[in-house]
Amino acid sequence: MSEPVFDKVALIGIGLIGSSLAHAMRRGNAAAHIAGYSPSKDERAVAKKIGFADSLPEKLSDAVRDADLVILAAPVGAFAGIAKEIAPHLKKGASLSDVGSVKSAVLRDVGPHIPEGVHFIPAHPIAGTEQSGPSAGFAELFDNRWCILTPPAGADAAAVEKLKVFWQRLGSQVEIMDAHHHDLVLAITSHVPHLIAYNIVGTADDLSSVTKSEVIKYSAGGFRDFTRIAASDPTMWRDVFLNNKDAVLEVLGRFSEDLSALQRAIRWGDGDALFNLFTRTRAIRRGIIDAGQDSAAPNFGRNKKE
Ligand code: NAP
Repeated sequence: MSEPVFDKVALIGIGLIGSSLAHAMRRGNAAAHIAGYSPSKDERAVAKKIGFADSLPEKLSDAVRDADLVILAAPVGAFAGIAKEIAPHLKKGASLSDVGSVKSAVLRDVGPHIPEGVHFIPAHPIAGTEQSGPSAGFAELFDNRWCILTPPAGADAAAVEKLKVFWQRLGSQVEIMDAHHHDLVLAITSHVPHLIAYNIVGTADDLSSVTKSEVIKYSAGGFRDFTRIAASDPTMWRDVFLNNKDAVLEVLGRFSEDLSALQRAIRWGDGDALFNLFTRTRAIRRGIIDAGQDSAAPNFGRNKKE
């Protein structure tokens, strides 16, 4: 097997993404030592039982000490506080990265705390599930998925390349992008779809003319697929919307206009407008399958027994 990419990697946050990173690092021999940190004693106990980390220090400073790569894998709203606390303990020449779902806010919140001689290279793996916590992680999460790196201007090219090799070792494909552009792309591909799912599930819950048991009973009509997304971690998603405000509002503006156009087409019986849009969107689904980002099996590959 190839040599580890880094000697010691510290994961700050060992929920879905942090624990998946640890499993994937083990599988790909990406680190000689994995340190995991969670502020919660219970989470540390779960992590110890599963065994995905080599050490689980109680203190942040102990987790990052001597680490060659530190990855922030907590909710984005916690990053500034963590960065401030770990800054004095970071090793000279180490890299500091993250997995946060927004990137401009990470540059803004973490950037000012980075000490001289530490390479700051934000990252975002476009992979996840609706589950959270240390028992939700698995080694295959990043396989064939994209990881976007958003190095700030003037970032050390060798450190960026090493982080790229690290993510490739975890099974990902790597793209380099400007943070602002990342936030706009993710607003349309992830953040607004989550908001729509949260909204429609909330609307169904508030509808007084349709009972809750009817919503659950007939959910296979389409609603069920929204409930999967709307079950995603509330803290993580609150922080995403608070920290990608501009891009989300920009995309939501466009979305509302397009929704009004659909509303008008329905009101005026404009079947062509509806048919043309639905034909265009079907082609997008086919494009996603052709790109290997989902399965062509009916109903997202759910088997009939489910
Ligand atoms: P998660 O399963 O809820 O895990 C979050 C972890 O961070 C938990 O271990 C949590 O501990 C810990 N944490 C909370 N506050 C902390 C603090 N102040 N210091 C250190 N650790 C802290 O969430 P996740 O899905 O792994 O998300 C983690 C990050 O990945 C987020 O920034 C998110 O934007 C990003 N991301 C998520 C997805 C996804 O689909 N889920 C995909 C890509 C990227 P406690 O439980 O004790 O609070």
